Amino acid sequence: MNPVDYSSFRRKLNDWYADQGRDLPWRRNFEPYQIWISEIMLQQTTVVAVIPYFERFLGRFPTVADLAAADESEVLRLWEGLGYYSRARNLHRAAKVIVEQYSGLFPTELDTLQSLPGVGRYTAGAIASFAFDQRAPIVEANTLRLYSRLIGYAGDPRSRDGQERLWAFAEDILPRKGAGRLNQALMELGATVCSPREPDCESCPVHAHCQAFRDGTQATIPLPKPKTVITEMTEVSIAVRTGSKYLLRKRTSNERWAGLWDFVRFEIEHAAAAIDTAFIVGAVQDRTGLSVIIGPQIAEFKHGVTRYRITLKCFVADRVQGRLKANEEWQWVQPEKFDEYPLSVTARQFAERLKQFPLVDHATSKTGKMKKSRLEH
Ligand code: SF4
Repeated sequence: MNPVDYSSFRRKLNDWYADQGRDLPWRRNFEPYQIWISEIMLQQTTVVAVIPYFERFLGRFPTVADLAAADESEVLRLWEGLGYYSRARNLHRAAKVIVEQYSGLFPTELDTLQSLPGVGRYTAGAIASFAFDQRAPIVEANTLRLYSRLIGYAGDPRSRDGQERLWAFAEDILPRKGAGRLNQALMELGATVCSPREPDCESCPVHAHCQAFRDGTQATIPLPKPKTVITEMTEVSIAVRTGSKYLLRKRTSNERWAGLWDFVRFEIEHAAAAIDTAFIVGAVQDRTGLSVIIGPQIAEFKHGVTRYRITLKCFVADRVQGRLKANEEWQWVQPEKFDEYPLSVTARQFAERLKQFPLVDHATSKTGKMKKSRLEH
């Protein structure tokens, strides 16, 4: 796009945004805390999915000080289901930094914003431009696609050259005043009109400025990401029971879903013809220190994590004897208390099934509470 066209481009885009921009909860004020929460939640997640999370989160933590003072477990519980839990842990850590180092006031400088845990160039630009109207460019998934088409960039937009070109364009088109509003309008156009497939070019307010539209290359720009090769995996989740309580374990910082609680869970050989119960008993003992009797499989879930498609087979088991290993965080929890713990999506599904599951002693196959003398060593 020729720089002489920038002011016409901005005017058309701003007019369109005033008329067509969606009313979203985080657009009702320009509070940096709310912008920050919404932008972190919106990474990898759709607007529709984010709205109820955003409202619940702000209801519980209305200020950065409230978030900083919370337990990480509670933050994760409110994040449960949004995925990419490092985002929630980083929000919590960054809130503490803002309270401790900046007296609870958001820094306004881009560099300082980017030094906060979990705040990258894009999020820093969104906070600085939306909240403080700084001339800070932003490139995220929607604007990456939009800018690639506007300038007709046929290379890989994620390459070094692509990133340099797109960030430079994102900065060039910003006005000295009203940069935040223009950034919001650009993101909105990318999200609602310049969609990945079949962009609505006829109703696009800036099609006269779009190189891809002129060239008819909207369908091939931007260059798609290379396809991820999916690997199948099978895992088992074992709800070890003693009396009326089940064993939960806090996932450690070097695991996926760090900080969330889960039943005993591990990988088994994929697509084995039959479940090897002896292997599962041994693996539970290795991990927990407890010897168990494996009961029935009561659920099976399929879900995706990054490049893995996981089949999760869920069993109950009764503790027979042994002491829990000391190097892990464990809790024996009654099903009605599961809601107090942050769980992964599949652990939550399993927990819900367990609430319906009758208490059966699989050692004796009798319904009811297991004998305390035998179980609680
Ligand atoms: S004209 Fe089409 S391809 Fe170009 S910015 Fe508008 S919607 Fe996107």
